[in-house]
Amino acid sequence: MLILGIETSCDETAAAIVDGDRHILADVVLSQIDVHRPYGGIVPEVAARAHLENADLMVAEAMKQAGISFAQLDAVAATGGPGLIGGVMVGVMTAKAIALAAQKPFLAVNHLEGHALTARLTDDIAFPYLLLLASGGHCQLLAVLGVGDYRRLGTTIDDAVGEAFDKAAKMIGLGYPGGPQIQAWAAKGDAARFILPRPMKGKPGCDFSFSGLKNAVRLLVESLPKPLSDQDIADVAAGFQAAVAQSMADRTRRAIELFTRQWPQGKHLVVAGGVAANSALRAELTNLAAKAGLTFIAPPLKLCTDNAAMIAWAGVERFRLGLVDGLDFAPRPRWPLDPTAPKAKGAGV
Ligand code: ATP
Ligand code: MG
Ligand code: FE
Repeated sequence: MLILGIETSCDETAAAIVDGDRHILADVVLSQIDVHRPYGGIVPEVAARAHLENADLMVAEAMKQAGISFAQLDAVAATGGPGLIGGVMVGVMTAKAIALAAQKPFLAVNHLEGHALTARLTDDIAFPYLLLLASGGHCQLLAVLGVGDYRRLGTTIDDAVGEAFDKAAKMIGLGYPGGPQIQAWAAKGDAARFILPRPMKGKPGCDFSFSGLKNAVRLLVESLPKPLSDQDIADVAAGFQAAVAQSMADRTRRAIELFTRQWPQGKHLVVAGGVAANSALRAELTNLAAKAGLTFIAPPLKLCTDNAAMIAWAGVERFRLGLVDGLDFAPRPRWPLDPTAPKAKGAGV
């Protein structure tokens, strides 16, 4: 089985080809980071235009790398949401056009399902497992029970964690995207000099919150002499990163308790999303999984951040079950994985 996947929901224009035996035949990603950097964040209109300019090129490149023709595909999958709607429309229309011209089925993939199923592409693990999705737009704990079957255990009630990293970085004068810069500066800093709040720590449930911490960073930075010294920047970065990692560890610990009680056959804790790159968070998660007797799985970074291999793979999983979509599918800016979960106030969907 050969599936072409297209991802355009945020700031990466990506195309990939994956087969039914978990092989990635091609995986190309064009990041728009340089396009958005002057604005200090993603500008939706600019993103949509860049996707429009590059989607065809990425598809052609992926097909060339895989050495196949459209006729050899079994189906064409694209992210159908959630995400920035202009970008999603570009990906969906591109996939529909190819599907129509090549007479292949079309699959609309939920972007979050792409992240959620990545561990089954890299590690051949069975359902159920517990997933922490920590990215620029999301922060959720999900019990992954099967294809299309998710139970949301927790979500952010305000900012996503990657967004918090990006905003904190901006406040201390570091560039965009902030996560990698915070991590690099934190390595040179003293996490004990500024003790910042650990949001939600000890609170019932598994929800996240980062706006109070963001505010605490703002007040701290205001109280420091300007311009900030390199040592101050490093110490704030270290304090912030420790607070985020410990807050997330507290939430994940509670989710593990819930998950192992309800689904004792589950064996894995999986992380996905760009923030999975963070070494402080990884250290906490490795520790938690070991204590709970779960195997910790962190897919390679390239497959944790937005990519099309995960969309193609989710396409494989759905196609096997006959879950194809019609060409009348309408892109969905909001598309919760767990429709039974209460609507989140903030970035969570
Ligand atoms: P989404 O996947 O939710 O649609 P997105 O495209 O913004 O949104 P990703 O590409 O998965 O998300 O991840 C980008 C985010 O990851 C950014 O917010 C970035 O700051 C953060 N990030 C990347 N590396 C690190 C790191 N080492 N530490 C912390 N955060 C990081
Ligand atoms: Mg991104
Ligand atoms: Fe994503």
